[in-house]
Formats: sequence, structure tokens, C-alpha cells
Amino acid sequence: MLVAVNNENVYVNAMNVQRNIKQKTEYFCPNCKELVFLKKGLIKQAHFTHFQKSDCAVFSEGETEEHVSGKAMLYQWFIHQNIPCQLEAYLPNLKQRPDLLIWLDEQTPVAIEFQCSSLSAQRMIERTNGYIENGYKVYWILGGSYHFKHKLTSFQKLFIKEHKKIGCYFLELHVDKSTLTVHFNINQYGNSSQIASYSAHIELTKANTNLDNIKERLLHISKAKQNELKNQLIKSQSSLNRGRNYQVPEIVAFQKYIYKRGDSLISLPVEVYLPVKNQLFIKTLPYFWKYQLLEWIMNRNSGEVISKKEVHNKFFVMIQNNELVFHLMPFISLESKKRCIDSFMALLTERGLLSVISNSDWMVQREPQRYENEKEKIADFLALDYSFATESNVKVTK
Ligand SMILES: [Zn+2]
Repeated sequence: MLVAVNNENVYVNAMNVQRNIKQKTEYFCPNCKELVFLKKGLIKQAHFTHFQKSDCAVFSEGETEEHVSGKAMLYQWFIHQNIPCQLEAYLPNLKQRPDLLIWLDEQTPVAIEFQCSSLSAQRMIERTNGYIENGYKVYWILGGSYHFKHKLTSFQKLFIKEHKKIGCYFLELHVDKSTLTVHFNINQYGNSSQIASYSAHIELTKANTNLDNIKERLLHISKAKQNELKNQLIKSQSSLNRGRNYQVPEIVAFQKYIYKRGDSLISLPVEVYLPVKNQLFIKTLPYFWKYQLLEWIMNRNSGEVISKKEVHNKFFVMIQNNELVFHLMPFISLESKKRCIDSFMALLTERGLLSVISNSDWMVQREPQRYENEKEKIADFLALDYSFATESNVKVTK
């Protein structure tokens, strides 16, 4: 811990205790009131720690160096920007002690949790809801063990939030580099190993970082990653083939399903591959839910009408039947999840399979194209006009 209570009942920040002064002061844990001692060296972050065998529920098990240093780093960064910040503040109505508490404006306190150790999904959700229900905002920042590496884990997914301009994002702190990393515009193409995202790195030691600059930077980071989509589509096809060869259960199930309907991994239409906004929220194999939805739509003849209400009912039916399974992501609302389906409808409209006839109805125009061989399909992937498929351009039909 970074803050202890001294024998004059004053809260003391370990960062402010002078070295060299002969310690006569005693320090106590603000939580369990037991005696704690100051650990202060030349290299490691100064902090207070319990004596062995403490069973303090809040500051037990010797906090890791990463956790103590990270908290101190964030604290100094906020203070540097004149953002009011309190370390390890106790919130009596929640009986919780966030790592930091800041005020970005006077109305809303913001809890910051620097998560370096494992935490059950249930506990994470309880804590998050506790903050939100009591009028706090909460930001979780992930420590070294949970930094993003190519694939998103189910643990990382718990912390993903949505922002209207930067899309899905989560935060990481790199204590060794004094850097806060924002992974944003996170999207998924085919399966869970096909994640695309942008990252911005904020050096916490630099004097000129402030929150407004960061927002600007995030918005201006290049969006010229268009060609990536072509590669991702081709990768999708090869990962389906690989899945079939290695008998990956969900791909085998998918393959069986489409065989019964006269399709194969080759004949599958392009629409089943194209990513839609927020498909990252969905655990079900993306080809599978898109195929089923497309099948349901194409049960109608061309010229027939589908209403938005019918589509949303279908969304709930698919959830009930486990044809559409979502990841456990507590920050993501049902409305946002529904937008996956809206984006898929928008995509089918862009592709000319549907046309919009009012703001709540579509008309079926044509069947999707099927393929005879893989070469033909890859050629179509490469010839696609990709501008519509970038996240910012996928229109949400309202
Ligand atoms: Zn204690």
C-alpha cells in the first residue's frame, strides 16, 4: 500500500516520507489498523507493507512491486495534470478501496483499478456494478500478465468498453516503460485469433501529456489499414479449411450444418466472411451466425419485405436457441450487442441483397453469390470494394 496512518492519526503517502530521517513514527494499515512498516530503497517504489502472517483482507499477500509502482506512477501523472487524485481511498458506502480515485469534473468521481492479479469474472462484475450503482465511473487498467498479445482472452474481454469515437477499447499499464497503452478500434474478423486493433502509447513521465491531447491523438491515428481486410478474408478461408482438417468441433458442426443445406466451405457466400461492427462481442463462430441469419432472410422470395421488428425478434430467438452466444463483457449493453445484427443488415444492403424501403423495413433483392471453386472466391475477396466494410462506414440502420 502507498498510504498508511501514522501515530498522530494522519494519512501519510509513502512517496512523501523523507529518507534518512530516523524513523520514530509508527504506521498503521488504514484497513485492519495493524502495524505496518515502510519499505524504501533507492530503486523500488517506497511503500508500506504488513508484517508477515497478516490476514488483512485488503492489503494482504504482499502487493507486487508492479502494483505498487503502477499506482504511484498513475498518481503522479494525475497530480501533474492537476487532476485531483486520492490513493487507496476508502469508499464507505461500497466498502471498497479503489487503487485511485480521481475527479475529471466536480460531479463524477472516477475509480481507477490497476489489475495485476487474477480476478473472477463474478467478482469483477460485482465491483464494477458497485461503483456504477453508487455514481462512480470506473476504469480498469490491466497489468503485465494481462497485456494484449495478438489474441483477446476472455479475461481481457471483461474489461472492454465502448466509446462512440474510438470504438471498443481497453487500457494497459506498462510499468517498466512508464507507459499507458490504449488498445482501441478493436475488431474481430474471422475467429478469435483474427483481431485487428490500433494502439496508442502515452508516456506518463512526459510533461506535456494531458487528457485532451490523448483524445486528439487517438482520433488522428491513421485509419489507412484498409488492405488489412483483404488479407483477413483470405486468412478466414484458410482458417476454416484448417479447422476442417484438424476437426475443430465448432467448424465441423458448422460444416455439417451447411452441407445439409447444399453448401460447402467453398460455396459459402462472401457476406458470411465480411466483418460487422461489434462482432467481437459474439462468441459463436462468426460464419455460423451470419449463415443462419442469411438463411432465415433468404427464406423469403425477392420482393418480400422484412421488418426491423422481425429482425430483432430473430435476434432474441437466436440467443434463446444458443445460435448466438455472447462473451461475458459487463461494460457492453444489450443495445450494443443488437447493433451487430443491425450492421449485418446494413452490410447486406450495401451488397445489394436487400434494399431499404423505409426506416423500419427492407426488401429482399437477390440471393447471395455462391462459389464453385476457391480461386474464384479469393478473386472476389480481392476485388471487393472495401470502403464500406471499415468500421466507421458500416452504417447502422435506424
Ligand atoms: Zn491491513
